Amino acid sequence: MKTNVIGFPRVGLYRELKFSTEKYFKKEISYEKLEECAHKLKVSNWKIMKESGIDFIPSNDFSFYDTTLDTAMAFNIIPNRYKDLGLNFIDTYFAQARGYQGPNGDVRALAMKKWFNTNYHYLVPELYDDTKIELVSSKIIDEYLEAKEEGYETKPVILGPYSLLTLSRVCGSKTKDSYVSDLVLGYKELFKRLNEIGTSWLQLDEPCIVLDLDNESKKLFKDIYSVLLEEKNGLKILIQTYFGDVRDNYKDLLSLPFDGIGLDFIEGKKNLDLIINNGFDNSKVLFAGVINGKNIWKNNYNKTIELINKLKTVSSNIVLSTSCSLLHVPYRVSSEIILDQKYKKHLSFAYEKLKELLDIKNLISIDYKNDERYLENQKLFNIDGRTNSAVWDRISNIKESDYIRHPGFYEREKIQREVFKLPLFPTTTIGSFPQTNDVKQERKKLRVADISEDEYNSFVKKKIKECIELQERLGFDVLVHGEYERNDMVEYFGINLDGFIFTEYAWVQSYGTRCVKPPLVWGDIKRRNPISVMWSSYAKSLTKKPVKGMLTGPVTILNWSFPREDISIKDQITQIALAIRDEVLDLEDNGINIIQIDEAALREKLPLRKEDWNKEYLDFAIPAFRLVHSGVKPETQIHTHMCYSEFNDIIKSIDDMDADVITFEASRSDLQVLKALKENDFKTEVGPGVYDIHSPRVPSVLEIVSSVKKMIEYIDPKKLWINPDCGLKTRGVEETVLSLTNLTSAAKELRKLYDCDDNR
Ligand code: GLN
Ligand code: ZN
Repeated sequence: MKTNVIGFPRVGLYRELKFSTEKYFKKEISYEKLEECAHKLKVSNWKIMKESGIDFIPSNDFSFYDTTLDTAMAFNIIPNRYKDLGLNFIDTYFAQARGYQGPNGDVRALAMKKWFNTNYHYLVPELYDDTKIELVSSKIIDEYLEAKEEGYETKPVILGPYSLLTLSRVCGSKTKDSYVSDLVLGYKELFKRLNEIGTSWLQLDEPCIVLDLDNESKKLFKDIYSVLLEEKNGLKILIQTYFGDVRDNYKDLLSLPFDGIGLDFIEGKKNLDLIINNGFDNSKVLFAGVINGKNIWKNNYNKTIELINKLKTVSSNIVLSTSCSLLHVPYRVSSEIILDQKYKKHLSFAYEKLKELLDIKNLISIDYKNDERYLENQKLFNIDGRTNSAVWDRISNIKESDYIRHPGFYEREKIQREVFKLPLFPTTTIGSFPQTNDVKQERKKLRVADISEDEYNSFVKKKIKECIELQERLGFDVLVHGEYERNDMVEYFGINLDGFIFTEYAWVQSYGTRCVKPPLVWGDIKRRNPISVMWSSYAKSLTKKPVKGMLTGPVTILNWSFPREDISIKDQITQIALAIRDEVLDLEDNGINIIQIDEAALREKLPLRKEDWNKEYLDFAIPAFRLVHSGVKPETQIHTHMCYSEFNDIIKSIDDMDADVITFEASRSDLQVLKALKENDFKTEVGPGVYDIHSPRVPSVLEIVSSVKKMIEYIDPKKLWINPDCGLKTRGVEETVLSLTNLTSAAKELRKLYDCDDNR
């Protein structure tokens, strides 16, 4: 049996790519230097995979920002607004990723969307009437040759044509169909070039195949591949799926002349039955995704070997594979110094997963039950010390009424308008202010005990004070404390809850140069002490204006952690919900009467198939949010925030969270969601972000005014809040102050326009 890796992390063990890229953005290093860093990272990946005995080593899984953008650019899907800047290739690339404001022009970035059910984000390619799809970049060829030169034979990887088209947004009048023939020609050209240089396998990633496809989409898929596969010649084509099962598309996959089919047996719950019931085609290779590319616990060799033995009854040609790209897990457990060995032995990051592939490959062909590797592995799965009975008692005492807040929304809205007397178009921010170097430095000093806790706390207080003063000066209506005390919206809460464990270097790419370091859920979760009360109370003491308390919600805390696998997701979310509920009530007791509970990641784990949405997720995720806030007084205003706006299809569930106000990202996306809000009589007040914080670009007053005007076509102005589309922690101070100045000026202008200086 051979082994395969779908893709490998690329930011570097110590986030070298992030730091180099950021230096390049600041013009501190040249492109040559950046490329040098990239080359080192690629070679070290190929090397470790080769040393670990991996047979199919990926290339072109590297990216300076995002592989979807790489693919779009390779096929000349580049909007004119970027071409017109007249920049070189790499700067045109970064302009699409981050927007551009400089001597050559002023353009917004491409929209960014969550990559399926992960916390990775991709850039949405845009198709215009004059987009001429053709192969224009040789990145994939170059990377294959780059590996070859270093002595590594690789399997190039690229996003497949069906997913590329599906994930792209049509911006002109043409339909997606009309791009198909050029797209197919483009990929054929790629096949030809790869054949010329002697590549043997090409992996085409087609994750869109695990989504619900209507008949039109199925036809599109077949149309593309039946023509494309005519001209693969010697090149072997692996169609790689992941994040779910292929359900009713399985037969189409079988009937097309692919040489390999990659299926995910971790998240693709139905893939095994599909294969057993429908058989497999033995002229094809089955790339069996059995090593979890999304979670960090050791593989259970017993379960995996049993699974493979079942697969062997239908397929004689199996390659052992990761379930998806390892991009979604950190690099290496052995880099962790502080974490206790008793936890570390349970963990498997990208490097360790390579070893798991090799172990299983070796074990499968021997009498494995007496093998040391197997016996050691099995010891990991029956352990105590993860249970706290008080937590389970509390869960069993939850009543139905604990999930419902009283009085109902409209009555609360009336009461709260009386209490807060906010102007029309109230202005606020999402919580964090720029995490400048001084903030990071002080945190580091505390970590290495260079300063005392008291010194650190006074520093944070100083920052809070400046932040409150700034917001007052800019004329904000609802203030925040700025979140200087936290490195991260999930880890910070995790540290203050029993049940979580933490890593030092386990970074995972979220988008571009942004990485996150998810905590790990080890045991039952319980709050030890109040977490945010001290900071919010201090901020409140500095101003007469309302200060929003700032918490992370249970669904997001879990979705941005690595969950345990021995109890259900529902139970883990409920445990966190009870802990955060205690925090909400403590904030309220301390006079904080606006509380934002961020659910930035609520949509992330929504099952990819609609038929699974309720039972497998929404039926417990939405009640968990309500459990967090149902205990507050009517006059306490509950806000929530989400980092995206694609909730048209779950809009009722979002309203059912029963928050008083929701802010969300709207600036990089179209106005579809606004229409949906109107059509669904959305009751919650809304703050669709008026500018994009993921880009350093400063929006003008006019721009903000006109985007709010558009919003008013769909939303009752009395329900509309004005805010940026996410937290400001990744931004610089200067651009933040300019942007926020324009935001509050825009609000003033809008109030004049709507001729209403009164309260709402
Ligand atoms: N309150 C958080 C912040 O402002 C929200 C971040 C997020 O939505 N990702 O940083
Ligand atoms: Zn956000």
